[in-house]
Amino acid sequence: MSQGYCITTRRLRLRCRHPQWLLETQELFNRIELFYYNLLLKHEELWDENSQETLRGLEFLSLPGREKRIPQTPLPWEDVPPYFRRAAANAGIAAAKSHLSRGKSSYINKAEKLNTPTVFYKRMYRDFSAEEITLKVWTGNQWQWMRCRLYGKPFPEDAELMSPSVVFEQDFIMLHVPLKEATPDTSSVKLRMKEGRNICGLQFTNGDAFAVGCVFDKDGKELGTRFFRGGDEYRHHCRRLMEKIAVSQEALGATMEGHPNQKYWMHLKHLSDHYAHQVSREILCFCQENEVSVIAVPKYHEEFTRRVMIGSGNWGPLHLSTRIREYLRYKAWKAGMIVIEVHANGTGSVCALCGKPILEESKKAREYVCESGHHGNRYLNAARNLTEKCRLQFGKHVG
Ligand SMILES: [Zn+2]
Repeated sequence: MSQGYCITTRRLRLRCRHPQWLLETQELFNRIELFYYNLLLKHEELWDENSQETLRGLEFLSLPGREKRIPQTPLPWEDVPPYFRRAAANAGIAAAKSHLSRGKSSYINKAEKLNTPTVFYKRMYRDFSAEEITLKVWTGNQWQWMRCRLYGKPFPEDAELMSPSVVFEQDFIMLHVPLKEATPDTSSVKLRMKEGRNICGLQFTNGDAFAVGCVFDKDGKELGTRFFRGGDEYRHHCRRLMEKIAVSQEALGATMEGHPNQKYWMHLKHLSDHYAHQVSREILCFCQENEVSVIAVPKYHEEFTRRVMIGSGNWGPLHLSTRIREYLRYKAWKAGMIVIEVHANGTGSVCALCGKPILEESKKAREYVCESGHHGNRYLNAARNLTEKCRLQFGKHVG
């Protein structure tokens, strides 16, 4: 088994006595960032270097160094802590590379202002836990340590905390902390299949079941099936909120300014988030119970997806499937499973038990009937076909 890791970002709310100092720090950071951005765009000879060499080249151009030589383009600020300067320079390099990667010559549509959040490298922070952090900040006159309180969930025990950044959001100041976590198993899909690991195939629906899943072992034997329910409840809650939005919109009429319905929209957003997390967690548990290694989700043609999504409505269970997939992918990855997409064409038109066509008139019904008289849930049938398709598709490569 190979080891791997994934990086996720944890957001914590930050409170401190002098938010103004964080703003000063941010402003300085962005000015230094812009300085290095412009410097790199001017020096074509550095464009193809890797990030480390680029940084070294820019430092040579802007800093006197140990030998006190006069640099070509001196950095116009004095006594900037090296780790602060370097973080800002790296942000500037990233911005310049992104500008150049869009194929523009360096002077067309160049940024006038950059606004990357301040990244605090090591030595720019200390006493860091999920409850507090002490940051080195620019007060406008001097550099000073400032203790900040943090509010959020505790960090996972084995996670490595990477350089945090301070982000000014609409109402709050947040600390974004990238977490690096080891994942137990990152072997490729092919290898997993070769080792005969279990597969879970999923089908998403617009009914009470958000999704239905089934697990096959390497020989195609079914180990379990499950419906992940709550779709009707979700649809009901969404409808109630949409009604409230409609009523308040009507009441406000033409005088409406800004987003008076913001609280309902936020409620809707949280509701969707809640269900997407819940369903993806349930799917993950089911997969863990059945020692699944590969999760297959259906892939459709873009046009089909668009049509189905429009047909199923904005706030229905099927619409949420996009987010469920997204959460599932990341949760599965952390648990050592891989989510892959398998083309869904054909999975709805044959019987998973005998392979015979499904009778035309039952194709759209919840219960299907096949030519040999088998019948059952249409979505479960599709999930079974998808799992088998995945098994055969990857089985072929390994012999
Ligand atoms: Zn059949």
